[in-house]
Amino acid sequence: MASKSQPKVPKTGSPASFTNGKAESQGQWGRAWEVDWFSLASVMFLLLFAPFIVYYFIMACDQYSCSLTAPVLHVITGHASLADIWAKTPPVTMKAAQIYTLWVTFQVLLYMLLPDFCHKFVPGYVGGVQEGAVTPAGVVNKYQVNGLQAWLITHLLWFANSHFLFWFSPTIIFDNWIPLLWCANILGYAVSTFVMIKGYLFPTNANDCKFTGNFFYNYMMGIEFNPRIGKWFDFKLFFNGRPGIVAWTLINLSYAAKQQELYGQVTNSMVLVNVLQAIYVLDFFWNETWYLKTIDICHDHFGWYLGWGDCVWLPYLYTLQGLYLVYHPVQLSTPHAVGVLALGLLGYYIFRMANHQKDLFRRTDGRCLIWGQKPKAIECSYTSADGQKHHSKLLVSGFWGMARHLNYTGDLLGSLAYCLACGGSHLLPYFYFIYMTILLTHRCLRDEHRCASKYGRDWARYTAAVPYRLLPGIF
Ligand code: NDP
Repeated sequence: MASKSQPKVPKTGSPASFTNGKAESQGQWGRAWEVDWFSLASVMFLLLFAPFIVYYFIMACDQYSCSLTAPVLHVITGHASLADIWAKTPPVTMKAAQIYTLWVTFQVLLYMLLPDFCHKFVPGYVGGVQEGAVTPAGVVNKYQVNGLQAWLITHLLWFANSHFLFWFSPTIIFDNWIPLLWCANILGYAVSTFVMIKGYLFPTNANDCKFTGNFFYNYMMGIEFNPRIGKWFDFKLFFNGRPGIVAWTLINLSYAAKQQELYGQVTNSMVLVNVLQAIYVLDFFWNETWYLKTIDICHDHFGWYLGWGDCVWLPYLYTLQGLYLVYHPVQLSTPHAVGVLALGLLGYYIFRMANHQKDLFRRTDGRCLIWGQKPKAIECSYTSADGQKHHSKLLVSGFWGMARHLNYTGDLLGSLAYCLACGGSHLLPYFYFIYMTILLTHRCLRDEHRCASKYGRDWARYTAAVPYRLLPGIF
């Protein structure tokens, strides 16, 4: 579950790249070896503007009640200058620095010092030491999967504090939101810079490093594939899941507490956003082992876009609906609330079932039932750069027979539900849906490019059998 898109494809082969028959291109595994101008322009744009985009959204809520146009209009019409807006922005504070340091340290300790015990007594949960996918250099990393446990402990403590301990106010996150933004940025830049230097000086696995010769591209897209400190501290798994995704549900709870404090009640829209996003977050941790095999972990290197993105972009922009509802406490009519809930659950169902069907199909090599029937598949093959021929199968039953990426469509329906919970007065809460649509459409196209190179004619047979990508009959 990373939050960012990835520029274009490589042009030369990686050590274990693959090709199928007539496919001419090799090295489609992971990020680029060479940078074309479009990728470089995208990288420069994001490096320059992404921090301002985050600042703009949060500042717009803080100073302009979440209106996206008001700050621009104020500046254009001379009612405020950029200096005025900046002067009203809270600076970093010692309190925020302490909260953030404590938070990250606590998550590091949970990650490193507490081996998973949930898998020992929670039926159906797969955690503990698990293997990731084979890296381009042929390495299979082991991971300590204990995210569910970290999430549960963190939330138990949060509820214990809110109801019995009273060490801090549950509005603490909202109350320090902008000072915390500076702290998150400091960590995001520090970790990205550290892994860049580490990639040059002491990489965890030199064969899994990629250098493009372009400083900015290397900085943003990462050099190392799986940077680690010691045997277990894996930067990608830690930053991808914690502290950002564990924080997601706490941030929402803090927004709900703020509504209660300000208005004496929590609106049904806030409850819906909290519940639907908590399902998504819990799903992530319940399936953390499965996430080891997704594109984020299997193909992306660790640089600024994951390091900074997980520290700043994700916690600040994925939680905009709750933030908006603090400033605009929308109380939905019952039909509206039921509609949002139904859409959110439908989206989640499609997302989860599509992912589950592919996982089950691949794990059992097709010896399973999908929608009560033996699944249909297209046999496919590819050759890795060492000349080895491999066989695989593409599922054409269930959701994977309806469209080639219905798991993304389900994700998008769920995203839309969070936004619709906020009513229709402002654009800001809809940012998440717009962003996810761009992210997942781009991801779909880049994944298909990779699969076409990998499977060649077999992929063409698959796309002929399942002609649509995200929306059956439309796209
Ligand atoms: P997928 O889980 O869809 O994996 C794509 C891979 O699956 C392909 O590269 C191919 O790999 C294999 N594949 C493709 N078609 C088939 C088929 N018909 N049968 C069998 N295997 C097939 O993609 P992601 O890893 O991107 O996404 C995982 C989930 O995470 C999604 O549900 C997505 O919505 C979610 N997500 C959420 C984000 C967020 O920020 N909230 C960001 C990104 C993802 P192979 O080489 O093995 O054949």
